Amino acid sequence: GEAVEIQWSKAPCRFCGTGCGVMVGVKDGRVVATHGDMKAEVNRGLNCVKGYFLSKIMYGADRLTQPLMRMKNGAFAKEGELEPVSWDQAFDEMARQFKRVLKEKGPDAVGMFGSGQWTVWEGYAASKLMRAGFRTNNLDPNARHCMASAAVTFIRTFGMDEPMGCYDDFEHADAFVLWGSNMAEMHPILWTRITDRRLSSPHVRIHTLSTYEHRTSDLSDAAIIFKPGSDLAILNYIANHIIQSGSVKSDFLEKHVNFRVANTDIGYGLRPDHTLEQRAQHAHDAQVSHPSTLEAYAQLMSEYTLEKASEVSGVRPQQLEALARLYADPQTKVMSLWTMGFNQHVRGVWANHMVYNLHLLTGKIAEPGNSPFSLTGQPSACGTAREVGTFAHRLPADMQVNNPEHRRHAEHTWKLPEGLLPGKVGYHAVQQDRMLRDGKLNAYWIMCNNNLQTAPNTNNETYPGYRNPANFVVVSDAYPTVTAMAADLVLPAAMWVEKEGAYGNAERRTHFWHQLVDAPGEARSDLWQLVEFSKRFTTDEVWPEEILSNAPEYRGRTLYQVLFANGEADKFSLSEIDGAYENREAKHFGFYIQKGLFEEYASFGRGHGHDLAPFNTYHQVRGLRWPVVDGKETLWRFREGFDPYVQRGAGWEFYGNPDKKANVVAAPYEPPAEAPDEEFDLWLVTGRVLGCEPNQAIAAFVVS
Ligand code: SF4
Repeated sequence: GEAVEIQWSKAPCRFCGTGCGVMVGVKDGRVVATHGDMKAEVNRGLNCVKGYFLSKIMYGADRLTQPLMRMKNGAFAKEGELEPVSWDQAFDEMARQFKRVLKEKGPDAVGMFGSGQWTVWEGYAASKLMRAGFRTNNLDPNARHCMASAAVTFIRTFGMDEPMGCYDDFEHADAFVLWGSNMAEMHPILWTRITDRRLSSPHVRIHTLSTYEHRTSDLSDAAIIFKPGSDLAILNYIANHIIQSGSVKSDFLEKHVNFRVANTDIGYGLRPDHTLEQRAQHAHDAQVSHPSTLEAYAQLMSEYTLEKASEVSGVRPQQLEALARLYADPQTKVMSLWTMGFNQHVRGVWANHMVYNLHLLTGKIAEPGNSPFSLTGQPSACGTAREVGTFAHRLPADMQVNNPEHRRHAEHTWKLPEGLLPGKVGYHAVQQDRMLRDGKLNAYWIMCNNNLQTAPNTNNETYPGYRNPANFVVVSDAYPTVTAMAADLVLPAAMWVEKEGAYGNAERRTHFWHQLVDAPGEARSDLWQLVEFSKRFTTDEVWPEEILSNAPEYRGRTLYQVLFANGEADKFSLSEIDGAYENREAKHFGFYIQKGLFEEYASFGRGHGHDLAPFNTYHQVRGLRWPVVDGKETLWRFREGFDPYVQRGAGWEFYGNPDKKANVVAAPYEPPAEAPDEEFDLWLVTGRVLGCEPNQAIAAFVVS
């Protein structure tokens, strides 16, 4: 026969927040090969073991290819077996269940669990459907489990989410300090950039702090093993060392920093039997901070002497001092990196603050090589979970649902009646599981998640909710995961290059790809599912009368019409699609839906420091780091000369905060909630092993 050439196209890898570029080879409608993209700045042709298997993951024999619903005697039954049904049957039953719950219990009883694996427009469409369509903020991504502490601390410190630096810092730093991060196994491609720097520049040093030894320790100049929880004491000791050794950068602090002190009047206090209100109060109290001064901060830090830090942490004084000197030395450019060690810490927000404190005290921030950097795990934890705002409390561009002005802004952009969007913060991921268990969340949709594998306390808190007779649980997935198999309705999902997509990686890089192949059978993208489902509801069924009586022009229209075919999201015609590529969703809906949703979404951030480039640009390039202003990406935010938002002569401007200053927030060392005693004499700590995503397959290690 005639030889068919392999067609190669670019895409980001779908597995992690590093955001490597890959080349995808397609032949006869199938992905037949992938390799690292030599033109991708992130990975420069390399892939890790997960990336190598990108094509394999698409063609498992057990791919889901049609909807499955629990049936008995030809009708849906909670106790029935999963049987193949048509999309119409699936959506009819699903709509019936959602309408029943909305009518009987109202919007609080409807919810959705999303993901940092969602493409940008899938998360955005889900956010519109839940908040504006069903009028609930019970929408949360799995990013809640891994990076809530990081996101909160970015906002509290800089007034804006996400790192100020980027991966280019790897080539500029003189020292790398890994706070708990096992990069050699978890971020192997970024680790190659560090090892390259270390091996080609003899003066470079790597200090790795961890509660146990791992493969990152092997190549480190100092592998520091500390007692669990004592990192807080080590961080405060370094702050004290910086102050005592006169290494504080006073003029920087004067111009660009405010001092605050964390509310410490809380204690651990949280018990499994605490009510949601008590938990919410605790979370709120833990986040409060009060104005303070450098002098007061110095006073608070003064108790963290070298001796005390060494005693608390079990680390030799020489090792701690060497580490402190790196931060204090004005000639040494330091990059601090962390992941779950800080972000899943019982005092995760404090730990994040403490590392920013070190960089702010010394002015080592927002310039090449001086970079506090929170690494992410999901491919679009930044792009979709954080930037699009699929959290229970967020809207796009760092806006919040409980801020009336922000809601007005979203209603205006979405062309919706005023007062439609709910202001109550929704249930976060863990609360959702508890509400399902308790029969208070009754219509629930899960996308891109294997929650029964990854949620905490699944046997007691998660699984019972899925099988609670009061609930109707829908799972969209490409494979029959344990979560899908516990659902009442399973919807087959298209994955990765079976649809057009966009991800945002850990360094603010937005990266697009085209649809390259069709999904098998009747599998459809999450975007298709969300938008198609919206056709089954009219405003009269789901919006309250007081909204409709003030805005009668919305009466009797479908959610599809008011949310997706609203003159904004349907602005771009099919003729705008690059003819070289398939675009199944756009053809189905009759307009370039991805472009419409993206441009509408991007309008939230343009001019506000979150500027994204025009849609078409992203299909041409290997990603761009926002803010993208006048076609130019921003490598270092908040710094004159790099960030177009910083005025000339200002040096630094942390413009997320009204006074353009960052916050140093003092917090104390607090002992772990539990420590070994005579009866239970071992520490049990968690860590990740090669090839795992952050929420998945967390291994337990015993350290003595
Ligand atoms: Fe994919 Fe992450 Fe591996 Fe890069 S490091 S190839 S993005 S899994």
